[in-house]
Amino acid sequence: MHYIGCHLTVSKGYLAMAKQALELGGNTAQYFTRNPRGGQAKELDPEDVAAFGDFLKEHAFGTFIAHAPYTINPCAAKPETLEFARNTMADDLSRLEVIGCSYYNFHPGSHVGQGVEAGIEKIAETLNLVLKPEQHTTVLLETMAGKGSEVGGRFEELRAIIDRVELSDHLGVCMDTCHISDGGYDVAGDLDAVLTEFDKVIGLDRLKAMHLNDSMNPVGARKDRHQKLGQGYLGLDCFKRIVNHPALKGLPMVLETPNELPGYAKEIKILREMIEE
Ligand code: FE
Ligand code: FE
Ligand code: ZN
Repeated sequence: MHYIGCHLTVSKGYLAMAKQALELGGNTAQYFTRNPRGGQAKELDPEDVAAFGDFLKEHAFGTFIAHAPYTINPCAAKPETLEFARNTMADDLSRLEVIGCSYYNFHPGSHVGQGVEAGIEKIAETLNLVLKPEQHTTVLLETMAGKGSEVGGRFEELRAIIDRVELSDHLGVCMDTCHISDGGYDVAGDLDAVLTEFDKVIGLDRLKAMHLNDSMNPVGARKDRHQKLGQGYLGLDCFKRIVNHPALKGLPMVLETPNELPGYAKEIKILREMIEE
């Protein structure tokens, strides 16, 4: 089964979002757990959440991706900023136990001058504080572009975080194609080599989801500027190889390209037509 979708908003509720995903040709989607700037999350409506779960089963959806606000910094130097990130993540995770059907994806953070080692330590500590043995949600570390002082631009950095987390059974990785290309992994030129490297360093069993984005910049640029599929440096053939790669089969693949809804529908269709089966 191929699970393809795009980033959507949950402003009209979870069921409405799933219906919108289906209308766009998707059978998965991504949503922000709260305002991406990190405000208070909206109270959950148990009826909406139950209807969401039923709808996903009825239409054989893949797992959704709940994205943490990108403004939190799980390795911040300032104690208040770090505490805010940890409280936000803990709150998101307790809500996801109710919402269900979702991975929890987050950006590992930026060490801003503390150094990558200190960043890795703090991110692991954050995870050790927020993960609970009984939780059902798998938390995904997103591969980053390595822009500025971002941690997670190298597979080794994600591995080092995972190694320091006690409840690492609850951890996985989400691979963002724009980010890894910008980070220096030539996903367009040699997908097999990139996946072999990922397997060697992290292990392919940790790879739980994909963000499909073209990049406005060439490999190694460390810019993190997403582009529409086929209009950037990765090109359509790269995505064709991804949707057909046996090692990536069954993973939720979500677009975060600069599009309005019709543009997303078009790209979902392009991806589906590429599937060779
Ligand atoms: Fe992200
Ligand atoms: Fe992403
Ligand atoms: Zn990005």
